[in-house]
Amino acid sequence: MTILCWQKHPANNLDHRELLLQLLVILKEVITIISQMNHIFRLVILVIFSVLFSYCGSLKPKKKSLEDLRLAYTNKSIAAEKYEKFSQAALNEGYDTLAQLFIAASKSERIHSTNFGKIIELYGQDSATPETGNFEVKSTKENLKSAIKTETFEMLSIYPGFIRTAEREKSSEIARSFSWVNNCQKRYLLNLRTAASILDKGNETGIPFIWYVCSGCGNIYNKSDVPMKCEFCLTKQDNFIGFSKQTE
Ligand SMILES: [Zn+2]
Repeated sequence: MTILCWQKHPANNLDHRELLLQLLVILKEVITIISQMNHIFRLVILVIFSVLFSYCGSLKPKKKSLEDLRLAYTNKSIAAEKYEKFSQAALNEGYDTLAQLFIAASKSERIHSTNFGKIIELYGQDSATPETGNFEVKSTKENLKSAIKTETFEMLSIYPGFIRTAEREKSSEIARSFSWVNNCQKRYLLNLRTAASILDKGNETGIPFIWYVCSGCGNIYNKSDVPMKCEFCLTKQDNFIGFSKQTE
C-alpha cells in the first residue's frame, strides 16, 4: 500500500530504479500468495487491488493542473504580502478603517496560499518558499483601484479556466481549492468596490471596521454579515479569525 501510493507521500525520494525493484519483489510475493488461494479469494484480492490502483490514479494530477496550482500558490503568497503593504499605506494616510479590510484580505490570501501548498505536498512535491513579490505600493486610492483590477481579472479570466482544467483532469482537490478562491474573490470584490465608492465621497463612513476570515477557505465576512458557518467550506464561526480582538 505504501509503495503503491508513493506519489502522494511528500517525503518520498526513491529513485525510479530502486522503486521498480521493490515493486517487482512485492509483485512476486503477491503472485505467490494468490496462487495458493482458492478462486473466491483470488477474486476478492483482484477487486481490492483494482480499487487501490484506481484510488492512487485519482490522486495524481495531470501536468496542467499542477502547473496551475504552483502558479496560484506563488501568486497568492505575493498577494498576501501586497495587501499587508496596502494596509500599512492606508494607515500612513489616515485610512484606519480601510486598512482593516486590506489586513483581512492579506490573511485570506495567506490561507489560500497555505491550502495550495498543502495540496502540492499531498501529491509528493515540494511546495518550497514562494518567490518574493514584485508590486507597487502607491496612494491608497490607487492601491484600491489596483486591487479591484487584479481581483476582477483573476476572478473572470484566470480561476474559471483553472477550475475547468482541474475538473477535466479529475483533480478534485485542486478544483475545489480553486473554487473556494474564486468564490472568495466575488465577495472580496464587492467589499472593495463598496469601499472605493465610499472613499470617492471623501471619507470612510460606512466601510466596515471589523472583519472575520474563515480559517478553512479564506472567505471574509464583516461583523454585520457573519454567518454561523462559512457559506463555502462550512467551517464554524468559532474558527473564524476574529479581527475584533486586534482592533477593540
Ligand atoms: Zn470557509
